[in-house]
Amino acid sequence: MPNDKKIVKQIPDEQPGPSGGEILNEGQQESVEQILKKFVPDKYRKMGNLEVLRELQKLENNLAAESGRKPYQVRGAGSSAETIGLADKERQTLNVKLSYNPYGVLHTLLHESRHASQYELIQERKRAVGNHQLMGDYKKNVEKHGLTDKDLLVMSWETDNYSNNDTNQYHMQFVEADAEISSYKFLVKHKGLLGGNGQFDLVIQQLENKMNDLKDAFNDDEMVKNWSKDRQTRHGNTGQGGLSQEEQRRLGEIYASGNIKQGGFSVIKDINSFERKNGLRE
Ligand SMILES: [Zn+2]
Repeated sequence: MPNDKKIVKQIPDEQPGPSGGEILNEGQQESVEQILKKFVPDKYRKMGNLEVLRELQKLENNLAAESGRKPYQVRGAGSSAETIGLADKERQTLNVKLSYNPYGVLHTLLHESRHASQYELIQERKRAVGNHQLMGDYKKNVEKHGLTDKDLLVMSWETDNYSNNDTNQYHMQFVEADAEISSYKFLVKHKGLLGGNGQFDLVIQQLENKMNDLKDAFNDDEMVKNWSKDRQTRHGNTGQGGLSQEEQRRLGEIYASGNIKQGGFSVIKDINSFERKNGLRE
């Protein structure tokens, strides 16, 4: 599943999560605001790696509860790791490479945590197919995440046809774009607590550049044509992510039409609503 910044080798020196990988129980839980206060540079600098991982686990516990899923275990990745972050759906772990910039670290956790939520939604979708009531619950949950069923259909396919080679195809995956948007929205929402310093501004600026690049890419006819062509080819050749024939047909149509701007995708709508001055508009 989504691993970021091109995984070249396995994370070599993984550290255990809090209490040897145990997920903190509810008694130790704190609010998002209480946790975020510890990530201002002065406080962050004084925390050891294990303390940082504990705080990230608490944050993941909050995010998971909000998403209506079980928390994944947060684990560190050593400084020599070539991936910045990794959401492992099999082991239900989130690997986060710790660095000097607390907001970069927060961003990685937020991004990987969103991958976990995407994956759980994909699973919920699979369970719901053919069951009217489960499908109703699933659709409400998708909406709560700011997504549509069509987004999820594409994401479901992407998860089993994940691309981490070509730069454009990598960034233009809905799972990746959505994880970036989600993290960006969270950080901006909590700007009052987190902001007012250069390290925060740097991470926001990087994300805004990314948002701008994505907007350009999804509005570039040639890029979108390649997006569709690449997917069409792979859709014909590879495993179908556990999708039914009817779903495969729908997906084939989406990829063949090459018209994703008018396709009713929340991910595309979000990207297109981005303006450098005003960020993302709801
Ligand atoms: Zn990712």
